[in-house]
Amino acid sequence: MDQLRLSPSRVNDFTNCPQLYKYRAILNLPEQISLDAERGKLVHSVLEDLFELPREERLSESALEILPTAWKKQISDNPELGQMVTNEKEWMDRAESLLETYFTLENPQEFDSTYRELHLEKNFTEEIYLHGYVDRLDIAPTGEVRIVDYKTGKSPKPGWEEKALFQLRVYALLYWRNEGVLPRVLQLIYLGDGKIVKSSPTEKVLEATERILHNIGEEILTAIETDFFPTKKSRLCDWCSFKNICPAHN
Ligand code: SF4
Repeated sequence: MDQLRLSPSRVNDFTNCPQLYKYRAILNLPEQISLDAERGKLVHSVLEDLFELPREERLSESALEILPTAWKKQISDNPELGQMVTNEKEWMDRAESLLETYFTLENPQEFDSTYRELHLEKNFTEEIYLHGYVDRLDIAPTGEVRIVDYKTGKSPKPGWEEKALFQLRVYALLYWRNEGVLPRVLQLIYLGDGKIVKSSPTEKVLEATERILHNIGEEILTAIETDFFPTKKSRLCDWCSFKNICPAHN
């Protein structure tokens, strides 16, 4: 059997619903376009380009100038998306508002970002390959590392921050194991409601993340071997692309 490709998104899929994982990761079934996800991609690409500019030009005006070009590129890569967005003004207004919120949370003129869309990877075990894309990784002149992820939705309700931080802990684990440096800060930036969730990972926390990944990886390998992917109904079903073929709903 090929090595299992594990990422925070696939771990999320499997824990949310093993059947969803099967549709996505094993059968690679096509999915309907999600406008929220596409808007997220657009805003991410503008923020990525923003850090290519010299510090003094990293202003909200520059981000708003980059936006139309990024949008043109996105719809030329995916013309179906262009047809789905029926009210382009409303679409761009929302993207602009998310970008403006970004500038209320960080001042990109105050620091340089070392990497954007950094791919971290590692052969986790002989059977499992672990990887993920980090939105932004900043290394301070003092050597301290900050891992940042932008979210275009709203911040988690109290008590759900730990679940939200799991993705960044996986990136921190990969960075720590590959580079031997423990990241100092993990930072989730929620542009939907202008909030930041921060955490400083300890070795203990990352070792616990490593154990969780091992356990989930083993569970997925067993599911593949036995072809047993139970359905798990939840509120997520309403957003699931596979609801019309899912045995739990048919
Ligand atoms: S519709 Fe619900 S139960 Fe079915 S695959 Fe999707 S998330 Fe799982």
